Amino acid sequence: MDVCIAEVAHAAAPPTIGSLLEAVTALLPAMQTRAAFHDMAASFPETDVAELRAAGALAAPVPRVFGGLGLGTEATGAPDLARLLRLVGRGNLVVGRVYEGHVNALRLVMRHGAPAQVRAAVADALAGELFAVWNTQASDAPLVLDGDRLHGAKVLATAAGHATRALVTADLPDGARQMILVRLAPGERADLSEWTARGMRGSATGRVTFDGMRAPASALIGGPDDYIRQPDFSGGAWRVLAVLAGGLDGLVEAFRTHLVGRRRDGDPHQQARAGRLFALQNTVRLWVTQAADIAEAGADDALIVAFTDLARGAVEAACVEAVSLVERSVGLHAFMRPEPVERITRDLETYLRQPAPDAALTGAARYFLRAALP
Ligand SMILES: Cc1cc2nc3c(=O)[nH]c(=O)nc-3n(C[C@H](O)[C@H](O)[C@H](O)COP(=O)(O)OP(=O)(O)OC[C@H]3O[C@@H](n4cnc5c(N)ncnc54)[C@H](O)[C@@H]3O)c2cc1C
Repeated sequence: MDVCIAEVAHAAAPPTIGSLLEAVTALLPAMQTRAAFHDMAASFPETDVAELRAAGALAAPVPRVFGGLGLGTEATGAPDLARLLRLVGRGNLVVGRVYEGHVNALRLVMRHGAPAQVRAAVADALAGELFAVWNTQASDAPLVLDGDRLHGAKVLATAAGHATRALVTADLPDGARQMILVRLAPGERADLSEWTARGMRGSATGRVTFDGMRAPASALIGGPDDYIRQPDFSGGAWRVLAVLAGGLDGLVEAFRTHLVGRRRDGDPHQQARAGRLFALQNTVRLWVTQAADIAEAGADDALIVAFTDLARGAVEAACVEAVSLVERSVGLHAFMRPEPVERITRDLETYLRQPAPDAALTGAARYFLRAALP
């Protein structure tokens, strides 16, 4: 792809992480206001993604050598990426989920792609294309790669119909999983009718059917099972936790506004619950920071996997308790639209459902039964 990367980079990437964080912080009030509308209408937050694009967030994962900030694709940017993901999750968990998928896809391409594939993805990211990772198989029609043709579908694919670059996994004849980067036009092949979840309604999470699509060798990223290569596969979950931490930040903010607004903040029972809530909020932040540190600072592979799995359980438990505290403090209003607390708890509870939580916890337990915590 003959794109002058330096030129596009100048146009699309923010000059520094500080200015990006500042720009995204400024977007939050409007993002929070629009979140209520997108939830009601179950519509994709296109404007918010456009604003992130304009702020340079979609170009931020591009490695610094190509003019980006290396966020998520270079180890040194982990604390900054954690802050950014938390901010976006605070604005709207749906937008956080979408942005996390974008970062994950670019990271995988930067890691496993051939030089020409890396250059093409860099040019696309700098041009503002939205990336996604779609791994979950349709049980009735799993995606397979047969020669150079794809057959079958992915489900639970966020930003379906909106992401124009999707990193999908397809089964090879021997059962291994192959990453393939596909280009899609807006709306192409997406069916959102199966997405009936009560939260994350605007995430455009749906089925994408690839029957008959060509997947030439130039679209294959990495080799068989590179997608599930450890410690990246499990360790990368810290980025999801950072978005969840942002969602919890947003919930605490909405809770505080509600309680103070109703002048119920002087009551000792409310204060006791609020105190516990703030402690949980900080617990989650600390887990995210530590998980990001361990995952990105080149720790032992098994430790990265076990620690991230442990963090998943801790964050899930803290968020579930936080939701329960908020609901008891706010009362019936916490279940009534358009109270922001109502929407955020639905989004948070839905996005908390991540794969195989029991196996993650027991796997971490097996590891730390024989090794001290870092
Ligand atoms: C908002 C949202 C967006 C998403 N977007 C994407 C996306 O863009 N791309 C994508 O690929 N995926 C996406 N997913 C799907 C996600 O990656 C997981 O597949 C999904 O969240 C799994 O949730 P689950 O509760 O069904 O998990 P499960 O793993 O089915 O867990 C449910 C329960 O079953 C238990 N369990 C799991 N396995 C077993 C077993 N073998 N035997 C007995 N018990 C078991 C678990 O411990 C847990 O208690 C998204 C999910 C959400 C919520």
